Amino acid sequence: MRPLIAGNWKMNGLTEPSVALARAIRHGLGDASVEVLLCPPATQLASVTGIVEGSGIGTGGQDCHAKEQGAHTGDISAVMLRDAGASYVILGHSERRQDHGETSEMVAAKVRAAVKAGLIPIVCVGETESERASGAQEAIVGQQIAASLPEDFDGVVAYEPIWAIGTGKVPTSADITRMHDFIRKELIRDLPEGANLRILYGGSVKPSNAAEILSLPEVGGALVGGASLIAEDFLAIIRAV
Ligand code: PEP
Repeated sequence: MRPLIAGNWKMNGLTEPSVALARAIRHGLGDASVEVLLCPPATQLASVTGIVEGSGIGTGGQDCHAKEQGAHTGDISAVMLRDAGASYVILGHSERRQDHGETSEMVAAKVRAAVKAGLIPIVCVGETESERASGAQEAIVGQQIAASLPEDFDGVVAYEPIWAIGTGKVPTSADITRMHDFIRKELIRDLPEGANLRILYGGSVKPSNAAEILSLPEVGGALVGGASLIAEDFLAIIRAV
């Protein structure tokens, strides 16, 4: 399966810079052998989708509600994301788990809603710094996988150690490999499609470390935060595959 390089713009992007960033990525991409995805804020999703249309670049949301519609002020449903042009949605990002108290069970409900709406879910899992220091990382990630992925899950898993997100710290290649091997074993054990699902790495991926990380076995791409906001950096990460 082609590697996936996904940019998570998080809560960044007014209209003008979002349009400029999407255009720069589209025009700088050339013949990419990887799948490229932009996940702008929901307010920019339709316009970014319009800019990349026909280029092979996809767009995704950063979260969705578990319900299709109704009295949920401020929330956005998977159907709405699809309607705005998204083909993917990031779910269970650690910032959602922390800022909004999202549990893995809530993430699983959102995954079901996303799939029903025709979106491919990218489910994030990862341990805190203290969980890694105590050697609990596999137990934590194993629990998150078991509870966040419905038994018929067919989507993408992103391993994002929380302590590596936006910090410039990155696990060693050996640690990334160990965790991705562990995740693969869990997926194969629990899911019919487990052997075929892409497992992305996320956490301070930059042009300088992308080639090494993306060459590791079982790393099927990257979920990129900060570096996805700079067109040259994001394009350099794509070219590093
Ligand atoms: C992220 O938030 O998904 C992420 C990986 O961020 P960064 O690349 O900035 O560490």
